[in-house]
Amino acid sequence: MSIRWELFLYLALFIVFALSVIWLFQVKLLDTFYGNIKKKELKKAADIMEISIAEGTMQTTAYQYAVDYGICVKIYSIAGSTATELVAVDVSGDSVLYNITDKYLSELYSKALANGGEYAEKRTKKLLSEEGLYYPRFYFSPVKEQIADNESNIENTILIKLVNYNDTQYAIMLNAEMTPVGAVVNMLTLQYLWIAAVLIAGALGLAIIISKNISIPIERMNRAAKQLAAGNYDAGFSGEGFRETRELADSLNYASNELSKNDRLQKELIANISHDLRTPLTMIKGYSEVMRDIPGENTPENVQVIIDEATRLSELVSDLLDLSKLQAGTGRLDITRFNLTETVRSTMQRYIKLTGRDGYRIEFWSDCETVVDADRKMILQVIYNLINNAINYTGDDKLVRVVQSIREGFVRISVIDSGEGIAPDQLPLIWDRYYKVDKIHRRAAVGTGIGLSIVKGVLELHDARYGADSTPGQGSTFWFELKTAVPDDSQQES
Ligand code: ADP
Repeated sequence: MSIRWELFLYLALFIVFALSVIWLFQVKLLDTFYGNIKKKELKKAADIMEISIAEGTMQTTAYQYAVDYGICVKIYSIAGSTATELVAVDVSGDSVLYNITDKYLSELYSKALANGGEYAEKRTKKLLSEEGLYYPRFYFSPVKEQIADNESNIENTILIKLVNYNDTQYAIMLNAEMTPVGAVVNMLTLQYLWIAAVLIAGALGLAIIISKNISIPIERMNRAAKQLAAGNYDAGFSGEGFRETRELADSLNYASNELSKNDRLQKELIANISHDLRTPLTMIKGYSEVMRDIPGENTPENVQVIIDEATRLSELVSDLLDLSKLQAGTGRLDITRFNLTETVRSTMQRYIKLTGRDGYRIEFWSDCETVVDADRKMILQVIYNLINNAINYTGDDKLVRVVQSIREGFVRISVIDSGEGIAPDQLPLIWDRYYKVDKIHRRAAVGTGIGLSIVKGVLELHDARYGADSTPGQGSTFWFELKTAVPDDSQQES
């Protein structure tokens, strides 16, 4: 079911529920409520009449009440089997009580006696006259004609209360006519039908408006998501309406951006890797063929070229493996305590050949030996990657400086080059997988755009701080910090 209809259904159900509650109380139970209120009123009046008997003001109180509440009041004093009428007030003049027969009076009296002194019942004039208990005094024509049809069915509540005061028994009798609520109920019922119709139409309208705000953006986003799945990264998501749909659209746009970036970078990586693999392979193949075909070319130098190229190939492959291990989360840390200063120094040994042959200078500055708790192999890789980058990108002075400094329990290794530097807008991006500022390899040692993402992965696994500062034209500084394992003063100066 679509949101629109489901919403409408819920709203309609709620309205039906609300209407039935109102109908139950206002229409169905109106009669009962009204009857109970009248009965309570009569009981209260009887209590007041009882007080007025003691105070000797029954005549005036009875008048007051009869006029104010439109009821009929009668008070008898009972002595043996004789009832003497003390008060009789009837504003309308034809109320039931005013015209009952002595038989009905004694019947009510005995019912009150049996009921603990108080008794109430509901009767219609018609019923009473059929039983011969009602006889209009002011009319002499036959009873049946006297009772107008519309009146004869009106319910009357008759209450009798027996009280004793000064050895005399009094019977307080009250009678209230119930205004017929049937017509009111009919009117209310009709009104409710109209209200129900209007409310249900309103609910439908409301459901349409709400669903428009929810379902239309969702349907639109669904279409865009299908396009995205088909590889169209330009399909933008828009979720106007509610905050949630807007946020969902923003998240989807973000996801789509990331997907498109990944897709692009992956394509670039494949292109780069193929290029990077092809160059050494061509070299290896070329040199091998020369050595095979031309006598005298089987020299140690040529063999060295093949070995160098093969080394580059295996480095490239192991870089890729490292990255995929880091990404898969399988690269568990193997924490040991080791001398970081020594590790940096030994890494630099790997470049000795390069420094000698191509004129690179790699300088290492450290003021003490530092021991850290970390995964040695991984940290070695970080240092290697950073120095490798610095060599690749350093300036014409071919100088790379590695500086170790210690501050507040942390050792910082900075790798500084004098190259072109990195533009500020590129700086945050270089840590991304496959990201390369330019696609032209500057040096023989080629890059794949994954060196820094390995650095980032390793350092984040170590919870280490790291970063890159660069001034375009003046070079870059790549650094990371590790917690020192032993207090600084226990370390020997180097
Ligand atoms: P690559 O193998 O291409 O060097 P990296 O992940 O190591 O890949 O580096 C990503 C990009 O960051 C490089 O392509 C380069 O553009 C830039 N970069 C890294 N180190 C430096 C540096 N020392 N100087 C200038 N640019 C650098």
